[in-house]
Amino acid sequence: MSIHDRYRLSAVINARGTYTPLGVSRSSDGVAAAVAQALPEFFVMAELGDRASEAIAQVTGAQAGAVVHCTAAGLTLAVAATMTGADPRRIASLPDTTDLHNRVVLPACQVVDYGHSNLQGIRLAGAHVDLAGTETRCTLADLEAELDGPDICCLVLVSSRLTHCTPIDLVAAVRAAHRRGVPAIIDGAAQFPRIADLLATGADLVLVSGQKYLGSPTAGLIAGAWPLVQAVRAQDHGIGRTMKPTKEAIVGVIAALEEWQAFDRMKWEADQLAKVTAFAEAAARIPGVRADVVADPTGLPVSRVRLHVPDAKRIATELEAGRPSIYVMTDRAAADELMLELVPLTDAETATILTRLWTLLT
Ligand SMILES: *Cc1c(COP(=O)(O)O)cnc(C)c1O
Repeated sequence: MSIHDRYRLSAVINARGTYTPLGVSRSSDGVAAAVAQALPEFFVMAELGDRASEAIAQVTGAQAGAVVHCTAAGLTLAVAATMTGADPRRIASLPDTTDLHNRVVLPACQVVDYGHSNLQGIRLAGAHVDLAGTETRCTLADLEAELDGPDICCLVLVSSRLTHCTPIDLVAAVRAAHRRGVPAIIDGAAQFPRIADLLATGADLVLVSGQKYLGSPTAGLIAGAWPLVQAVRAQDHGIGRTMKPTKEAIVGVIAALEEWQAFDRMKWEADQLAKVTAFAEAAARIPGVRADVVADPTGLPVSRVRLHVPDAKRIATELEAGRPSIYVMTDRAAADELMLELVPLTDAETATILTRLWTLLT
C-alpha cells in the first residue's frame, strides 16, 4: 500500500518546481537510506555539525558551512550573526537589539514571499529593514545611500526567480557593502547548483535550501566566511534553538552533498534538456497547443516547458482536480501560458501529464 493510500493523501505529480506546499523535491534512495540509518542512532550533535561544515566547505569552496532548519531560518540566523557575532550575552539577548547595529539593507525589488515575506524573516532576529530603491529597480547608488545610514549590520541580496528587479550587479553590490565594513548575505534558496557562483561574488554568507535542488531532507545550508559561520552556529544557544536542524537532516545533507560531488553533472544537464525537449515536441502535437523550451532566468541549468493553451486557467484547475493531482506553474495563466518543470519526474509521470492534456484539450 502506498503511503498516500495509507494516510488518505492525494497522489501528486509535481511539475511546479521546488514548491514548498507540495513537498519540494525527491530525495534519492541513497539519501533516504542515510536518513533511515541516522534516525535510530545517537550522535554528538556538535561533531555532526563539524562534519557538515567540512562537507559544505569541500563542495562549495567556502571556508565553512552550517546546516540550519531551512533557508527561511537561515536568513533570520545569518542576520542575527551579523548583529551579535559569537558573543554569548548578545546572542542570549535577541530579539532585543538595544545597543547593537541592527539595520539591514535590502533592495525593495527583492522583497519576496515564499510563504511569508523575507521582511518578516529578517525582523524575526530583532533587526529593522532599510529598503533601497523602488519595487522594480535598485541602482548601486540607491544601495550606497542606504548603506551609508547609521547602525547597518548587513546587506541582504536575493538571487531568485521571485524577485522583480532589473538585474542587480551582485559583485558591485557586495563590494559597496564591504567598502563600508558591512557583511553581505545572499539568499539563493533555489540556487544550490549555482552556489559557487554566488560565493564568487564575494558574499560573506550564501544561503541555499537543501530540499530544493540538492534533494536532501528539509534543511538550510549556509556557506561562507569562517567567523560569521561560527556566529551562525552559536545562535543554537539563542533564537536558533527554535530553528535547529534534525540529526537526520544533517546526515541527509552530507549524503546528498557526497552524491552531488560524485555524479556526472554534464550528463544530468543533457538528460534534463532531452526530457524537456521531448515533452515539448509531444505536447505541440496536441491540437491548439504550442510548446517551447524556456531557460531559467537566473542561470540555473534547469529548462522548463512553456505551453500556450486555450483557457489555461481552467486547464490548470482540471489538472489539479484529476487523480493523480497534476500541478503546473500558473503565474502566467491569465496570458494562456502554463509552465512545467520536469526535473524530478519519471517517464511514466510525464506520460501521464501528456495523456491528461490530450483528454482535456481534445
Ligand atoms: C524557498 C525560498 C526560501 C525559503 O526556503 P526554505 O528552505 O523553504 O525555508 C527563501 N528564499 C527564497 C528566495 C526561496 O525561494
